[in-house]
Amino acid sequence: MGFSELGLSPEVLQAVSDAGYTNPTPIQEQAIPHVKGGRDVLGCAQTGTGKTASFVLPMIDMLAAGRARVRMPRSLILEPTRELATQVAASFEIYGKHHRLTTALLIGGESFVDQERKLDRGVDVLIATPGRLLDLYGRGKILLSDTHILVIDEADRMLDMGFIPDVERIVGLLPETRQTLFFSATMPAEIRKLADAFLRDPVEIAVAPPASPSATPGWPQASCRAARSGWPTEAPTARRRPTRNGCARSFSRTASRA
Ligand code: AMP
Repeated sequence: MGFSELGLSPEVLQAVSDAGYTNPTPIQEQAIPHVKGGRDVLGCAQTGTGKTASFVLPMIDMLAAGRARVRMPRSLILEPTRELATQVAASFEIYGKHHRLTTALLIGGESFVDQERKLDRGVDVLIATPGRLLDLYGRGKILLSDTHILVIDEADRMLDMGFIPDVERIVGLLPETRQTLFFSATMPAEIRKLADAFLRDPVEIAVAPPASPSATPGWPQASCRAARSGWPTEAPTARRRPTRNGCARSFSRTASRA
């Protein structure tokens, strides 16, 4: 399947082509049509699979119409680290270059003044680490009542870093009628529980990691179909046995819905 079959706008397709991508990765192929269709998505995919574009590309099109109001971001992407948040912001620059979306990056270690100024102008996409977001919320600089698209990225790292209480608080500040996209490299029980609490009837997608399968035995392969050259496809059958925290076991009960 090519990018042109995923329902993306000509402008986004142009940006993708400018980036030099010829084919969608498995997570992009499987997630993009559902994200565009407004469904919640539970994605078991790690960094390196192309998962960032799997939510950034459709979000650009979905947010293209409409305007952000002062201090009321239209979408929110939560990242566990400053580095990941910065990379996602860079992706909006690259893929959104033919659009006029406004983004703001709220991460620790940067000036509050600049971040507040951006919020005051209105942002379409807010990319934040949980702590800094709550800081600004506590100062009355931000309202999340108009935030109808939420991405929780790298959920298992959020758990490792002790951010889950912050994430739960933030999700409680968003409208109930929202679209939620939830990504995690692994799916231990605690993460699965959170996903169940945050998502509504999600499409579940699990893809293989980008490294060679032999380096990471136990990764889920079931949903991994077409791939660009060099991208992992099917692993040997013997490797399909999931690890304790892998996605395959967690998803097996709903695999047919993915
Ligand atoms: P991510 O998993 O989102 O961190 O992406 C990993 C890397 O894959 C990034 O450097 C992207 O620029 C690159 N990438 C994303 N989508 C594609 C694609 N369809 N074809 C080739 N490279 C891609």
